[in-house]
Amino acid sequence: MTDFQKLCWYCEKNNSQDEYTVPYDIHKLIRRKGTYVIFGRSVKTKYLSKTINIPRCKKCSQIHSKIFDISAISYLVICAIFIWNKIILNNENTFDQIIIGSVLVLIFGIPIFLIISWLVKKLFGIKENRDEDYPEIANLLSQGWESGSKPYLKGENYNSK
Ligand SMILES: [Zn+2]
Repeated sequence: MTDFQKLCWYCEKNNSQDEYTVPYDIHKLIRRKGTYVIFGRSVKTKYLSKTINIPRCKKCSQIHSKIFDISAISYLVICAIFIWNKIILNNENTFDQIIIGSVLVLIFGIPIFLIISWLVKKLFGIKENRDEDYPEIANLLSQGWESGSKPYLKGENYNSK
């Protein structure tokens, strides 16, 4: 790495600062081999992984955390209304069911959270570059790398490199 200041990838206006860098995990599956062993199937996976640091400026970092806060609050309000109407007001639900139901709503609602974040960005007219378009990432994605720190599917005897 060189010492010179990089431009913030998101706004392409300000200089980036190391403390606001966004780590982006990326991996490439080299080989996945399933073998049958005594107690079932074991899958060995070999993959490469690395973290790419996307340069970001202080201002974009602040915008990102605001977007996150606004989205998180809206998301929790939507979930609360849903949980209240569908789960708590349903007299047949026991306390356990209410807790389990609420947790499930929060987990399966995550795509809604992502949609809200997207809407918030649109609403505030925030135009910025996407992580996936950062040249180093775009280059790896075009060579068969995928986002995330490791392959999704895994079995016992999970070997990483
Ligand atoms: Zn910026």
